[in-house]
Amino acid sequence: MSEPFRLDDTSADRIRGIRAPLLRWYDANRRDLPWRRTRDPYAIWISEAMLQQTRVETVIPYWERFLDRFPDIASLARAELDEVYAVWTGLGYYSRARNLKAAAESVVRDHGGRLPDDAESLRGLRGIGRYTAGAIASIAFDREEPLVDGNVIRVLARVLGIRADSTRRDVVEAIWSVAGRLVRGTRPGDLNQALMELGATTCTPRSPACLACPIRSRCDAHAAGDAETLPIKPKKAKQKPMRAVAVWIEREGRILAVRRPEEGLMAGLWELPGGEIGTDEAPSDRVAEVLRRHVGLELRGVEPVGSVEHLFTHRRLALDVFRARPVPGGRVRREGFVAHRWLRPEALLELAHAGATRKALALFGVTNEVSARAARDPRDRTPRRPRGASARP
Ligand code: SF4
Repeated sequence: MSEPFRLDDTSADRIRGIRAPLLRWYDANRRDLPWRRTRDPYAIWISEAMLQQTRVETVIPYWERFLDRFPDIASLARAELDEVYAVWTGLGYYSRARNLKAAAESVVRDHGGRLPDDAESLRGLRGIGRYTAGAIASIAFDREEPLVDGNVIRVLARVLGIRADSTRRDVVEAIWSVAGRLVRGTRPGDLNQALMELGATTCTPRSPACLACPIRSRCDAHAAGDAETLPIKPKKAKQKPMRAVAVWIEREGRILAVRRPEEGLMAGLWELPGGEIGTDEAPSDRVAEVLRRHVGLELRGVEPVGSVEHLFTHRRLALDVFRARPVPGGRVRREGFVAHRWLRPEALLELAHAGATRKALALFGVTNEVSARAARDPRDRTPRRPRGASARP
């Protein structure tokens, strides 16, 4: 049993005392983001799906391109999944794109082509959890539905002085409950966005700008002087190391690309062929055999090109990359992959691919705009956070 935790005063007066200055502050300080200029529930839904794992500045051009290509739910429902992936390429976490497409199909099939306007029905759609349902219902449909993401947890844990592990179920439920009382009243969508905006711009993880905060007189952590230590989070488990090899197999100016199955790590993504080896094995000793086993090709002229590292939520991948040519006459056989293509190297970057593949291709000088940006952005190295916690900076 977890220890009970202390929650500062949540009387109706306190709640009112937070709501009003927060909304005034939001009116004066809100960032002008493109999805804040529309009330189209579909456009708001797409923005929420993209923002779940990705920073605001990265999302803006993707959101604009996505809506140009799929301007409404019907066009998304009709599209081939590969077309959706093509617009999503570079955003990562492709399950979000798969879920959007599947949910659009259900909306057309079961809801007459219109997004439901209540949180409960929204949660029946694939990929829409408690947070996203609250966001769409409040922002697009003015419903008094709360939302809680990483920013809201931080703000409310500080305001309410919650000095217990913020990932505990009872703590999270207490925060949802206070968020539910805060959102009651006029402008629920703005109130939710104000809370997130405060967390993104003012009540930041390190060095919160308390002097500029509209609710500092109601903030327990500010009064106690320990805001920077909240919310309390458990220590992260260490990522398990894994090692793999990948090979740039070139034939007549084209390279072999393979697609992973729809389940498991990097599901459905395209990559250079290869496979996992033991963390204590020498990649050069294993590469020929791994390729024979997974794609049935005998290789010649195998030479190492370099290695890249990529972090997943629970795993740390060391990927050793080689270059080779296939022995003539061989035929690709697929073991553990569901498709293969011989492509121009740049064309692989236009298919749905993982960050590790992008880094491997960069070793051969193959990059595109997304790769260049990722190379400048150290955060690309690490998947940011579990589903449900916001990455809005
Ligand atoms: S006073 Fe400081 S710690 Fe409290 S909510 Fe505002 S920014 Fe966050």
